[in-house]
Amino acid sequence: MDSNLLEVLVCPLCKGPLHHDHANHELICKADRLAYPIRDGIPVMLENEARDLNESNTTQSTSNS
Ligand SMILES: [Zn+2]
Repeated sequence: MDSNLLEVLVCPLCKGPLHHDHANHELICKADRLAYPIRDGIPVMLENEARDLNESNTTQSTSNS
């Protein structure tokens, strides 16, 4: 798979440009604050697979047990 393909991917929600986070293997949409995972070099462009960056930013954490 050509890594240049990552450069042309856009967010499926807002059609905006994505930031490739090489460290975390994620594609970041700053507008939606979502991080789409890259699995085995293949970006998973699904909203329900994306990590919500808002959640990781909140210091208030409800009980998770
Ligand atoms: Zn977006």
